[in-house]
Amino acid sequence: MTRFAWGSATDTGRIRQANEDALLTVDGLFAVADGMGGHQAGEVASHLALDTLAGAFNSAGTDVLVAAVEQANAALVERAATDPGLAGMGTTVCAMALVEAHGSDAIAVVNVGDSRLYLLSDGELHQITEDHSLVATLQRQGRITADEAAVHPQRNILTRALGIDGRVLVDSWEIMPVIGDRYLLCSDGLFNEVDEPRIAATLRRLADPTEAAQELVRLANENAGRDNITCVIVDVLDDAGRDPSNIGNSRITYRSAKSDPELTGFGPTADSANSSAAESNAAEPHADEPAIVRLRAMLTSTMTWRVGLFLGSLAVLGLFVFGFIWWTGNRTYFVGTQGDQVVIYRGKPGGLLWIEPELVENTDLELNAVPDPYRSAVVAGVEQPTLSAARTYVRNVENVIDKQTPPSTTTSLPGVTTTTG
Ligand code: MG
Repeated sequence: MTRFAWGSATDTGRIRQANEDALLTVDGLFAVADGMGGHQAGEVASHLALDTLAGAFNSAGTDVLVAAVEQANAALVERAATDPGLAGMGTTVCAMALVEAHGSDAIAVVNVGDSRLYLLSDGELHQITEDHSLVATLQRQGRITADEAAVHPQRNILTRALGIDGRVLVDSWEIMPVIGDRYLLCSDGLFNEVDEPRIAATLRRLADPTEAAQELVRLANENAGRDNITCVIVDVLDDAGRDPSNIGNSRITYRSAKSDPELTGFGPTADSANSSAAESNAAEPHADEPAIVRLRAMLTSTMTWRVGLFLGSLAVLGLFVFGFIWWTGNRTYFVGTQGDQVVIYRGKPGGLLWIEPELVENTDLELNAVPDPYRSAVVAGVEQPTLSAARTYVRNVENVIDKQTPPSTTTSLPGVTTTTG
């Protein structure tokens, strides 16, 4: 019989006001969820997801765990639809559970979003799940490096989450439990602050799972604690006498959401190329996932709240810039020319981007009657803050002409500021 010991820790971190992460540790079912959405909606999302997961799960098999995640997704979508205050909420979920597979015990793993499951086996740390995030996608495509991904400003953008769409694509794996193995479930608040060598060293150093979880949280806070941090550590105490030498390459099996062909993963006891095998395994599920499914998943999940917020901010910024240019381009007047005639325009001399000056008033003043330096100023366009100021400028020029006293080289007239250009 497979037995576990476990411990956990969660913390708001040093920046956030509330802890929107949630965790679940009941014997045989462990999970973390990282909720998203303002005004406590993220907290509702992560807790509702894990409550639903716990209620819907039984140990009959990995499919049951996948179905429980789908049920959690449906619960979130339904709740958001009935409560406008929760619209747009979502959550990641990453869970492991003891299930029956092919007549023996197996650890089922499911993942949606960018929380992670790591396996520490024979002292080596392997990331089992892969992130459904923009940076992870860019990294898989070879467009950014791991170092660039770690500091990418958009590393919070998810490509999949619960609560966004009625359908959700759930990644799943089956792992044979082996005595001595240690699992870590965590939210991104941990691995964005603490690098994997330090996580591995901590998991190796502290035998007590609760102590290790608390230490990881402490390290994340010691770095910067920019996000909520959650860690669940599960140790395999007993594997029913399974012989590791028989485990081989089928130790970890990736299963896609809808019974796609299975891929076998690495076996930590298999050969000396452990770490590279683990890395290629991390990328392997994508070879298996039909391109159209990935595309659809990308499209349907693009509108996660983080993406929505980002696009919304861009739209608001765009509107603001558009409005500012429009306001700047239309709020002023200038005295200029149309053919031989002096006229008044609304707008900027020469126009501003797409905003052309608009002729608002003709005058009786002919350009060749205007003495210098007014003439050159008018040809360039004399800006005035209001229409009446523009009219006053024209009247002043007319007065100068009437008195037939050519002005000096100064460009100032009583009560009128003349600027050229
Ligand atoms: Mg987070």
